[in-house]
Amino acid sequence: MRQIAWVFDLNKCIGCQTCSVACKVLWTDEEGTDHMWWMTVNTMPGRGTPRDWEQMGGGYRDGRLQLGHLPTEEEFGGGWDYNWDEMLRGGKGRQAQFTKVKGSPSWGPNWDEDEGGGQWPNAYFFYLPRLCNHCTRPACLEACPHGAIFKREEDGLVLRDEDLCHGEQMCARACPYKKIYFNKVRGISQHCIGCFPRLEQGVAPACVRQCPGRAVWVGFLDDQEGAVYKLVHKWRVALPLHPEFGTQPNVYYVPPLSPAPFKEDGDVDESRSRIPLEYLQSLFGPEVERALATLREELEKKRRGQESELMDILIMRRWQEALGPFTRNPAEIVWT
Ligand code: SF4
Repeated sequence: MRQIAWVFDLNKCIGCQTCSVACKVLWTDEEGTDHMWWMTVNTMPGRGTPRDWEQMGGGYRDGRLQLGHLPTEEEFGGGWDYNWDEMLRGGKGRQAQFTKVKGSPSWGPNWDEDEGGGQWPNAYFFYLPRLCNHCTRPACLEACPHGAIFKREEDGLVLRDEDLCHGEQMCARACPYKKIYFNKVRGISQHCIGCFPRLEQGVAPACVRQCPGRAVWVGFLDDQEGAVYKLVHKWRVALPLHPEFGTQPNVYYVPPLSPAPFKEDGDVDESRSRIPLEYLQSLFGPEVERALATLREELEKKRRGQESELMDILIMRRWQEALGPFTRNPAEIVWT
């Protein structure tokens, strides 16, 4: 078996949502999928999508499968509308104010965008892109009573046979990352398919190929010449999110560096980073301290004009370096 993996550099993600929209227009534009965002980018610290997903349970505890909370529609949130009629045709001119119409939801994806944490002058935030982790030990797969979910041998993608899905949503309860949506029109659950029709044609997933920040790589974890292998296994600066959930996720993150915080007297406290280490450890586990130290050391080497393979990978001078073996141009393909 081979395992495909994604690495996101949280120092480079600019929260532009290009990956979210690239995924949305490609895969979830049919009836019953309008509320689905297989790819999301949330501000951290924040409550995320769905709201407070990190506290919803699922995954494995002491090696045993846990069925967590099934996120509600309200927790996922939805779009809202404005008083367009009043604004455009109400004859009030500049007196009219944009107002959300009554009945609008009180939560939605990115509701708390750019709020972040900390107190001025030490406020901080960063962006966290999330898709299905195509886990090595997928809780969704084990929870499905109908055998609808399977893991492909050739690339380790976690996919579902929609003909076998009964819509019981056990998968959505078991997934600790809450990356499964329910299609009410078709009565089935659905989640990120890792752009497998593109992969089969040698084309990178849309979230990777469209990223304008050069903040994400895709590739096989055993490809020792690839950026994914080097970031995860060689330099060990790319870490899984919430490893304690026990599903062995295959989406990895280069943790965010941050400037030194100000002390009360206005001086800077060089002994710490503005993003609290404890917070990053709560997301990426105890390895994050070592990963941040490696990043700082290599950054310093580069600043001194020395060679750094790690910094060269992270800089990504050519955007094609993000694509791993999936370098084919989708425009050359006649898609059926
Ligand atoms: Fe399954 Fe959730 Fe892991 Fe995706 S992230 S493979 S849906 S457990």
